[in-house]
Amino acid sequence: MNFYSLNNKSARYTFREAVLGSIAPDGGLFFPEHIPSIQNISEKLHALSVEDLCCEFIQPFVGNEIPSEALRSIVDKTLSFPLPIKQVSDKKACLELFHGPTMAFKDIGARFLAECIGTFSGSANTTVLVATSGDTGGAVANGFLGVKGVRVVILYPKGMVSRLQEKQLTTLGDNIHAIAVDADFDTCQALVKQCFADVALKQELGLTSANSINVARWLPQMFYYIAAVKQLHPAPITFVVPSGNFGNVCAGIMAYAMGLPVQHFIAATNMNDTVPRFLKTGNYMPQPTHKTISNAMDISDPSNFIRIREIAAIKGFLLNGLMTPYSISDEETYQMLHTLYHDYHYEADPHTAVAFAAAEQHAKLYPTDTTYVVLGTAHPIKFEEALKPVYTPNLPDYIRPLLNKKMVNTLQLPADFGLLKKHLLSL
Ligand SMILES: *Cc1c(COP(=O)(O)O)cnc(C)c1O
Repeated sequence: MNFYSLNNKSARYTFREAVLGSIAPDGGLFFPEHIPSIQNISEKLHALSVEDLCCEFIQPFVGNEIPSEALRSIVDKTLSFPLPIKQVSDKKACLELFHGPTMAFKDIGARFLAECIGTFSGSANTTVLVATSGDTGGAVANGFLGVKGVRVVILYPKGMVSRLQEKQLTTLGDNIHAIAVDADFDTCQALVKQCFADVALKQELGLTSANSINVARWLPQMFYYIAAVKQLHPAPITFVVPSGNFGNVCAGIMAYAMGLPVQHFIAATNMNDTVPRFLKTGNYMPQPTHKTISNAMDISDPSNFIRIREIAAIKGFLLNGLMTPYSISDEETYQMLHTLYHDYHYEADPHTAVAFAAAEQHAKLYPTDTTYVVLGTAHPIKFEEALKPVYTPNLPDYIRPLLNKKMVNTLQLPADFGLLKKHLLSL
């Protein structure tokens, strides 16, 4: 399938171009030129495996640009860790998306993207260059580990990521390189931009990005909605999604637009409430970003919201009927963390707790017969600090070995473009 830019619908790009480009040349987000529709979905939910179902949903976007057997193996690799649904209370369950290598749902999109870039780069030299404030870098690094023909370089602000995050970035070795920059995240980001602006360097290294708006990170997020619906079908499901950039909930809405049976979506934000205010007032007015305890959602101008509006426009969905947004304060989040821990014996992270609080508000306002499936987006151990007033999460066994691993392929550099360039060319 071809893709257009949401800034200019006349030009068309292949899936490969959309993946390797991340963002259209005019700065717009890529969007598929039509929304496919999956036939006989109820039968397929019974008859097909989760992996086969996921292939059905993703294949139309990829077209013949990746052969179906190779695509199937990419889907298998993407789904190689468990996605359990834990019952938390009578009508609320948590779909835990954090049993992957970096303990957050971003592992799923990052892994699919890595495999696609690996497939498309072939024998050409490709370098994925990213700056990270902590989380994205780990997911991307793990996704690309061992992918042939692709080298990954991650810049992170020295001393400003957590111990666990640093281990996730710096101990992988193989094709993964890390650079601890003596500067803050914004400076790391600026250095990456400078590299992309250096045409000769970009050419020489085959530079590409692993940006979160990449279609190959966005669309595979449909997979866990599909897995959950397969498991719970025919129960009517309301998905409750902790939302920052709105990529996650937008993937669920895409799956719904393609025919996946879902009753409703709830988008749960923290105090960064641009979308909830927009749906109430009709004015899209981002305000300065607030710092909260669910900091992966501290985003006031969510880049994927425009994709949700595009889906709604194409399918004739009323935005308010499709998705109800709630904004939850830190205080409400802490209250919910307490309730979950003490009353339901469930250890949630702050992002997941924001979604539980939204589900509770919604259930009070609309007491319908629905099963709430809250997306558990991160393991609580990743947010140990913020959780301290409530409880101390246990380190899961599969993470323990990471803490004893030694740093490899890691260099410390001052924030100096010349030195960075020299280092990149020497890898
Ligand atoms: C990235 C992230 C989110 C927000 O997801 P979006 O797709 O940006 O809406 C929520 N929770 C956690 C833990 C995250 O890392």
